[in-house]
Amino acid sequence: MGKKIVAIDMDDTICHLVPKAIHYHNAAFPDLQLTLDQIHSFDLSRIWHPECNEEIFFGRPKLYEELEIFDEHTVEEVRRISEEHDVIIVTAARPSAVPEKWNWLQQHMPFIPFENFFVAKRKYLLDFDVLIDDGPHNLLAARQAGKRTIGIPRPWNQSLQEEFLMKDSWEGMGELVNRVLSGPGFPAKG
Ligand SMILES: [Mg+2]
Repeated sequence: MGKKIVAIDMDDTICHLVPKAIHYHNAAFPDLQLTLDQIHSFDLSRIWHPECNEEIFFGRPKLYEELEIFDEHTVEEVRRISEEHDVIIVTAARPSAVPEKWNWLQQHMPFIPFENFFVAKRKYLLDFDVLIDDGPHNLLAARQAGKRTIGIPRPWNQSLQEEFLMKDSWEGMGELVNRVLSGPGFPAKG
């Protein structure tokens, strides 16, 4: 049997996109200070400044290169998982951000080869065994396709946090991946 495919999202799963985007939003629009807890969905159009837009919020040049790593365990855990399984990084990148995202990966996780870097918005089309992601649409689609999932709890996936297995730190993620892969198709929360 071949290696199991572990699909790992980038934004707000292995790095912090939304906090950095909020930081630049708040610097540009001092009269409207957003906080992370306000972000209950990926549609920010009703809460950001009226002069803000998708391009300003998510399209700032070099934004994706300067994102902070999720936590101090992320790199070693992804490395550990990749030594045992076939880790693919799957990210729904806007086209202009693709080189920035690849540069970020090279800088922080040079052990990920480019053939394991997938730009995909419709992640459900990929044949992975487990998905680690914060996006509710990705977690739901993966589950619908019969895949195992590990969610990263964020304010925008609050509604799934009771029914999906969630992990808010990368500490011990490798162990959890192995537990999820060896367990039944839909592991109990915990
Ligand atoms: Mg994400």
